[in-house]
Amino acid sequence: MFPTATRRSTARLKGPEGSPTVVLYAHYDVQPAHASQGWSTDPWTPTLKEDGRIYGRGAADDKSGLVSLIGTLRAFDGKPPCTVRIIVEGMEETESNLEEFVEAHPDLFQCDMFIIADMGNLRVGEPVLTTALRGDVSCTVTVRTLDHPLHSGVYGGPTPDAMMALARLLSSLVDDAGDVAVDGVTGGPWGGEDMTEEDFLAGAELLPGVSLLGTGTIADRLWAKPSINAIGVDTTSIADSSNVIHPVASAKISMRIVPGSDPEAEPTPWSVTSRPTPRGAHRSRCSASRPRRRSWPPRTAPATRPPARR
Ligand SMILES: [Zn+2]
Repeated sequence: MFPTATRRSTARLKGPEGSPTVVLYAHYDVQPAHASQGWSTDPWTPTLKEDGRIYGRGAADDKSGLVSLIGTLRAFDGKPPCTVRIIVEGMEETESNLEEFVEAHPDLFQCDMFIIADMGNLRVGEPVLTTALRGDVSCTVTVRTLDHPLHSGVYGGPTPDAMMALARLLSSLVDDAGDVAVDGVTGGPWGGEDMTEEDFLAGAELLPGVSLLGTGTIADRLWAKPSINAIGVDTTSIADSSNVIHPVASAKISMRIVPGSDPEAEPTPWSVTSRPTPRGAHRSRCSASRPRRRSWPPRTAPATRPPARR
């Protein structure tokens, strides 16, 4: 385990002479479980629901991954047919130092196969191998229209409102169907297994009357086409609002880019420059993480991080 443990505590099980080496990875840190996330059961009490899944803080990400590794070793009674190394990380959800750890201990990562147990399955009881993930390009855009706030009763009308201007900018990033409208960004059909709309909705839990966005199959939209979201907005809060036109508004934009694309060459909103950063590293104002493609197994299995489940 790292970073709290030393190299000596990295687990290793030696297999038969000449057998391949497999590195297994999972992480033991988890995301917070704020009440505002809409938990319907106590996040501190593992709860088996009718859908057959266990709900609790970090159950899916990534305690289940860790348990799956332990279960695999147990299935082989501690004597796997190959040499196994296990890397368990403790800061994956924050500022991961995995890259530095790999650079410091390259021998630990020399292997024939690297399995990351940090994904999920689409349906209870149906194993899934994830073969690719999208990367992300993010940037913060700020709109300034005025030197200082103005009274809307006196100046409203001809005066450009920063938040309204930002809203128009954001809406221009997708077309009427909801597909990304950034010219030239890489996207295409998904060549692997599809996901049904029913399965997607079971995880995404859209509110009644809310429609899905974009065109193509669900798999195309999740795994082979880009997507854009405004993941944060800074403007005047409703509590602090008054009859005032505010001069500035900002939004953080995240664009998911597809496996095989080059984040440095990929077109981005407003042609901002992207700079690849290690996954989990602190992101600067404009940054990107590389989409990752794995060559095995053949792309016949669904590849996804499961929709967040609570
Ligand atoms: Zn995870």
